Parts: sequence; C-alpha cells; structure tokens
Amino acid sequence: MKSYRDLSPSLRTIMTPGPVEVDPRVLRAMSYPILGQFDPEFTELMNETMEMLRDLFQTKNQWCFPIDGTSRSGIEAVLVSVIEPGDKVLVPIYGRFGNLLVEISERCGAEVIMLERDWGAVFDPEEIIEAIHRDKPQIVAMVHGETSTGCIQPFDGIGAACRETDALLVVDAVATIGGVAVETDAWQLDAVIGGTQKCLSVPSGMAPITYNERVEAKVLRRKTIERGLREKGAEAKPGKTVASNYFDLGQLQDYWSPKRLNHHTEATSMLYALREGLRIVLQERLEERFARHRRHEAALVAGLCAMGLSLYGDPDCKLPVVTCIRIPNGVDGESVRAMLLNSFGIEIASSFGPLKGQIWRIGTMGFSCNQKNVLHVLGALEAVLLWHGVDISAGKALQAALAFYARKGEELPC
Ligand SMILES: *Cc1c(COP(=O)(O)O)cnc(C)c1O
Repeated sequence: MKSYRDLSPSLRTIMTPGPVEVDPRVLRAMSYPILGQFDPEFTELMNETMEMLRDLFQTKNQWCFPIDGTSRSGIEAVLVSVIEPGDKVLVPIYGRFGNLLVEISERCGAEVIMLERDWGAVFDPEEIIEAIHRDKPQIVAMVHGETSTGCIQPFDGIGAACRETDALLVVDAVATIGGVAVETDAWQLDAVIGGTQKCLSVPSGMAPITYNERVEAKVLRRKTIERGLREKGAEAKPGKTVASNYFDLGQLQDYWSPKRLNHHTEATSMLYALREGLRIVLQERLEERFARHRRHEAALVAGLCAMGLSLYGDPDCKLPVVTCIRIPNGVDGESVRAMLLNSFGIEIASSFGPLKGQIWRIGTMGFSCNQKNVLHVLGALEAVLLWHGVDISAGKALQAALAFYARKGEELPC
C-alpha cells in the first residue's frame, strides 16, 4: 500500500477574510469525546450554544441555532424556507455576495428585483427604503459586510420600512458577526446569518442563524399547508412546501426545541467548537472585541499608508475587518502573494470578478486580529514589495504602526 505522510499542516499567519486562525482552546474542544445527540449532556450543550448565540446576535429571538454546513448553508436555509415561488425579493447588490443572494433567491423561484451599486461603495439607506415602498417586495435580502469589496452597509431605517410594508428583512452578516456590531433587534432585522470561520474564529462548517416570529410565522404557515396536503393524501405542491428537507427551518426548529424531533445528526465536534468560540467571544465582551478589531485595523491602515500604498473603496463605508489595497501599477499581485506565503508563511487574499488583479485584501478577523500579525504582515509586505522593485517609502510602515500602538490606539489620520 502506498504510504502517506503524517498530517502536518504548516503554521501560517492567516490574514485573509476567512478562514482565519483558530484559538487553540477551540481546536482542543474539537478533540473531546463524542456524545449522542439526545444525550442530556449534549442537549444541554446545544441549549447553552443557543443562549450564547442570543447574546452574539443581540436579540431576544427564541430561534438562534447553527445550520450544519458552511455560511452559505445558513443563507440557503433562510431563503429556501421563507421564499415562496413568485415572491418578490429585493436585493441591493454592492459586491459578490449580493449576487449570491440573487442566485439562491432565483433558485427558490423568486422574482428578484436588483438594485446595483458600483463596487467599492454602498447604498444610501434612503435609496433602499424608496425601493421597498415602490416595489413592495415580500423579502429584502442584503449583505451587511461585503468581504469582496471591504465595504459595510448601514441599515438606518431599512428595518422600519420593512415592518411598514410587511416585508421580511434577511441579512448576511457572515463577515461581520463577532467583529463588528450586528444589532438584530435594535435594527429590526428579521433573519440574520452569521459565519464561523471569519470573526468568530471557529473552523468553517457551521452557520449560526437567528430569526424572529415574523419569519417563524411564514415558515409555520408553509408547514401547515404541507401537513394539510399530506393528510388529504395529496401530493406535496411544489412551491407551497419548502423545497429542501435539510434546510427546512420548520423541521430544524423542532429539532432545536425541547421536542428534539429527529432531523439530522448534529455535528458534534463542530458544536463543541462553536460553543467554545462563543465562550471566548463573550468572555472578551462584544464591545471590547469590536474595539480590538478597530484598533488593529487602524494600525494596519497607518502602516500601509505610511508605505505609500493606496486603499481601495470609499473610506466612509470601510469594513473594519477587511482592508483592500490597490496593487501598484506593473506589479504582479499573485507573485507578491506567493512570496508572502512561501517566504514568510503569511496568507493574504486576492479578489474576485471586476477586482481580479486590481486589489489585495487583508483580513483582521478574530484570533488573527492581533498586534503580532499586523506588524508581521506590514514588515513582510514591505520586504516583498521592495524585492519586486516597487517604489515605496521603505522603513516607514512599521514605525507608523508602532507609533500607533505606543499611543495606545488613538485614532490616527491616514
Ligand atoms: C465568506 C462569506 C460568505 C460565504 O461563506 P462560506 O462559509 O464560504 O459559505 C457569504 N457571505 C459573506 C459576506 C462572506 O464574507
């Protein structure tokens, strides 16, 4: 038999918009013994996870639980459960993940209405509110933090407009949850999807979601129709019933309720990981965690600007956890990334679609978001750019970041 080497992944400094480095406490949690999914010891861990998710999402919603799958599984679960074929879904798009909401909504049979913004900027909330009143969608689906462009969308008044017009507001907060404030109840968000491998710093493989009674009412209405049809011996009607079994929130919430109706087998080790990751987030405290993300972002930006690099995107809507840098003219962005990885063990991200070859993206998320990593990436990037013959101000970046840290995190103009 062919012999395979021992598994020995390199220790990397991961400065991408996910997946990011994971706290050893979370990795340790994943190595604990398996419990059966109806073992009271395990259901207690499920309940505690739901409680901590309520704090994370800043909500009183009963329904806060993870979907087993990567973040887009959470998006898909919410959309397939709330969209009935023919429903109008308004999607404001300002980057790649807005297009994902369109794609999934179309597969659910929605009539999608798109609002588009040039990449690198976001919407004035008024523009979205106008569209809500004009188009009267049943659902508004939008992204909070766009990792593809490094922009963050403000929500002022959008939740209220959705209540007035009886629309459900579904928000992809995959990139922001645990790194930037996401106030589910205060902003009147009806369903929110988070991610694990970004600011929560848990491996990829689960998608925590929350939703309120407005969403639940629609899910239960579809479930009642389904049950009625079955009792009458009729075939399930496509469109009326939820088109997915795995992602049917009606069944999932029965599994996460005291009824514990069997659905799938909960991903035991991932649940341990999520529970430990949430414990770390709440021990740090949300406000302090958000401040930490802003502090290291500011140090990184100070260093990049001192080096003479320019940032991409409207600074007024910059996402604190992703910094996009314009690749200087004539530089092979992929060659720079390869040297960072091969010589320094640092990973930064490239970009998608219209931005391919135009920008690099540096994440400052979760466990990866720390002074050591910021200084490490600035020093390495400077060296690699000099190696590539780029005309930058050598010696300035680390001094600017160190000066920022010495002033203990005071805001620094760039
Ligand atoms: C990363 C990301 C996703 C997709 O996450 P997967 O875990 O890869 O499925 C969706 N939306 C946003 C905003 C993201 O940043």
